Amino acid sequence: MRTILVTGGTGFVGSHLCKLLVAEGNRVICIDNNYTGSLDNVRELLTQENFTFVEHDIIEPYNCPEKLDRIYNLACPASPPFYQGTRSIFTTKTCVLGILNMLELAKRDNARILQASTSEVYGDPLVHPQVESYRGNVNPNGIRACYDEGKRCAESLMFDYHRHEGVDIRIIRIFNTYGPQMNPQDGRVISNFICQALRGEDITIYGDGHQTRSFQYIDDLIAGMVRMMENDKGFLGPVNLGNPGEFTIRELSEIVLKKLPNTGSKLTYLPLPSDDPILRCPDITLATERLGWKPMIPLDEGLDKTIAYFRNKLAK
Ligand code: UDP
Repeated sequence: MRTILVTGGTGFVGSHLCKLLVAEGNRVICIDNNYTGSLDNVRELLTQENFTFVEHDIIEPYNCPEKLDRIYNLACPASPPFYQGTRSIFTTKTCVLGILNMLELAKRDNARILQASTSEVYGDPLVHPQVESYRGNVNPNGIRACYDEGKRCAESLMFDYHRHEGVDIRIIRIFNTYGPQMNPQDGRVISNFICQALRGEDITIYGDGHQTRSFQYIDDLIAGMVRMMENDKGFLGPVNLGNPGEFTIRELSEIVLKKLPNTGSKLTYLPLPSDDPILRCPDITLATERLGWKPMIPLDEGLDKTIAYFRNKLAK
């Protein structure tokens, strides 16, 4: 049995991870400030002996009372409306001070630490699809910079702690991910489109809808994340985890409307937020070669499961 700390454990990705780790017989300590996460996401775990929730913000050091074997650092708001604006300074602090605090903990306990980095490190990419060796095209002072540069700095700190302090690190770069447990208010494109269609509201397309994204179902991400953490071949990453199926946002809206016909929803066009990447698609050759991983759930199937979740959630 391993003792595993999951930061951001009540969030969308973190709660799925906590459930899997507990089911596999690990002791899991979940910390979160519940800014975008919710205890509802881990409600079924709260009564389990091997699961402990601690309300804590990783901007502050965390003196974990137990010796840790693994740390998954997932804590950070990840949806543009939640990480930008008045929260942008907090976002940078979460990325930078948060990983510093977690790296100190990893050093203390000689624990292995995995950082949830992001496709946002590639910014508005000039290389397509994005390979890990591409260094990106991030606007360092735009409205997305708090997240993009925060996550880039976290990668840099991970490698410096590895080189100079001997910390055992793993880095994944997560591409757009969706599935049950997303917050209906999250503001991300899949949750917005499904909830808008279910409510009979208009579907909000930002810009002309020609920008692309590649959507990965949550179970595929969790499988890749654990595989990366547990790889013992000394493969540190960074490694892309995403689904290479690429869709324009307009195509996505049509797929959702086809699955939810007769709702009365129409397409409405709103301005494209600044620095919104025009193209995004992962090259997953490295993940396939080094981890034997590839996504298994196509958009069609993942959307059906996600629609079922939101239908139930909105009905409550
Ligand atoms: N988007 C959209 N309508 C929405 C929400 C998002 O057209 O209601 C667009 C957004 O501008 C971006 C893409 O969908 O081009 C993905 O946005 P999301 O916030 O889901 O993720 P990210 O931009 O971080 O990849």
